Amino acid sequence: MKPKCRNWNSNLILLDSTIVNAWKIYNIANETQMPQLEFKSYIAVSLMKAEDDDPNRRINQAVGSSIPDEVRLDNIGHVISMDADKARRRCKLCKSHTIYICIKCKTHLHLKCFEAYHKKI
Ligand SMILES: [Zn+2]
Ligand SMILES: [Zn+2]
Repeated sequence: MKPKCRNWNSNLILLDSTIVNAWKIYNIANETQMPQLEFKSYIAVSLMKAEDDDPNRRINQAVGSSIPDEVRLDNIGHVISMDADKARRRCKLCKSHTIYICIKCKTHLHLKCFEAYHKKI
């Protein structure tokens, strides 16, 4: 008999025991003692990110459309650089030709358009 599980939804029990196992392994592997609650929110965020990233990014790359807003606006690692092959491509913002590219977004931009592009909502 395991009365402590009685009130729980069966999906939740499955998810929860999976997470608890992962949490134990995480703590052993990292020789840490992350609180279980913190680990659960860490997992939840990772899962949400994985769901966001996967299909969207593939579609975006396939059609060459813009990268997700949360990446474009995250302010981390966006550096403008001259494109390696120096090919002239259309600037994402003003649509005229440029040889510069944001190395994180892999998006062609002018120096003058770089800042505006990363602030545009
Ligand atoms: Zn431009
Ligand atoms: Zn960028």
